[in-house]
This record gives sequence, structure tokens and C-alpha cells, in this order.
Amino acid sequence: MDAGQARAWVEAVAASVTAHAAELTDLDAAIGDGDHGVNLRRGFDAAVAALAGFEAGTAGEVLTKAGSTLVSKVGGASGPLYGSFFRALGKALSAGDSFADGLQAGLDAVVRLGKAAPGDKTMVDALAPAVAAFASGGPAAAGAAALAGAAATVPLQARKGRASYLGERSAGHQDPGATSTALIFEALAGVYATG
Ligand code: ADP
Ligand code: MG
Repeated sequence: MDAGQARAWVEAVAASVTAHAAELTDLDAAIGDGDHGVNLRRGFDAAVAALAGFEAGTAGEVLTKAGSTLVSKVGGASGPLYGSFFRALGKALSAGDSFADGLQAGLDAVVRLGKAAPGDKTMVDALAPAVAAFASGGPAAAGAAALAGAAATVPLQARKGRASYLGERSAGHQDPGATSTALIFEALAGVYATG
């Protein structure tokens, strides 16, 4: 991935989060506090704005900057988590790691911070299968795996984050963060598909 593709990815995520803001907010209203769409919109819009005035030569620099912006601009749990993901990915790329290894570093950072395991009904349920699928099958496979992982959160009972306060009542709804992770990986597949 070059710097232009990294910028295109962040811009595509911002557009997708805007298009799906109401859906993300509705999902979060069902099992959280109804701010996920607003949180991500603010965060990714801020990332696009920050990148507009940022001269970066590499994808690693672009994604590190995007991650730092998400950490500082998003108040909810998802800001530090996604911010850490993009920052760890960017740092790994800057250190010369492959994109697949960078994604793994991003997942590791999310798990280190949030301590969620697969099955806890969080973004990890979409992120972990997407990262694995990217390594074995590339970006389109990662997008499909993230979508499937998000759908698979519906019957789960949340064990991390705000939704866990609902206990059994969190079952029957798709996790908002897993849903936005699917948007992020669908955007990534789109960037690779258009070169
Ligand atoms: P908040 O919960 O603070 O209102 P958001 O609504 O923006 O933040 O994000 C909620 C999403 O964050 C959840 O749907 C879940 O996917 C994710 N999340 C919350 N806590 C964790 C955690 N400890 N580890 C991983 N993901 C988490
Ligand atoms: Mg919320």
C-alpha cells in the first residue's frame, strides 16, 4: 500500500461511516448509548481533515496520523480502540512489515487495550477473522470475513463494553463496533480493487 492508497482508504471509511451513521447509531441505541455513528463520523472526518494538511511519503505515516487523530477526537470506547489499530498498523508498515503483519499488529493493539476475546460481542469478532482472512486470501476475503463476523455477533451476549451492562438483553442485536469494522474492511477491499 502506498501513501495515496492509505489516504483513499481513510477517505473511503469516512464516506462509508457517514452513509451508515444512522444504522450504526441505531445499533448502538439498541445495546449501548446510541453514539457510535456520531463518534466515528467525527473521528474519520477529523482524520481526513488532518491528512489534508499533512505531507506524508508513506502509507505508514498516513495511517499513524489517522490513528492519532481518532484517539484524540473520539470520546467513546471505539476512538482509542480504532485509533490504536490504525496507529499500530501504521507503525508496523513504517518498520517494514507486510500489510498482513501490520493488520495483525493492529488487532494485537486492540486486544491489549480492550482485553476482549473472540465471542465477547465486540469489534474483535469482525476484526480477528478479517485479519486472518487477509493473510490467507487478500482484501476481498478480509471484507467478506469481517461482514460474516459482524453478522455472527447477533446471538451473542456482550461481555465487554457498554453492551455488557445489559447482560442477556444484549443478545439479538448486531454489535455496532463489529458492524463498523466490516465497513472499514469493505472500504479496504474497494481501495485494492480500484488500485
Ligand atoms: P461507547 O461504548 O463508549 O459509547 P462506541 O459506541 O463508539 O463507544 O463504540 C461501541 C463499540 O466499541 C462496541 O460496539 C464494541 O464493538 C466496541 N468495544 C467496546 N468495548 C470494547 C472492548 N473492551 N474491546 C473491543 N471493542 C470494544
Ligand atoms: Mg456508544
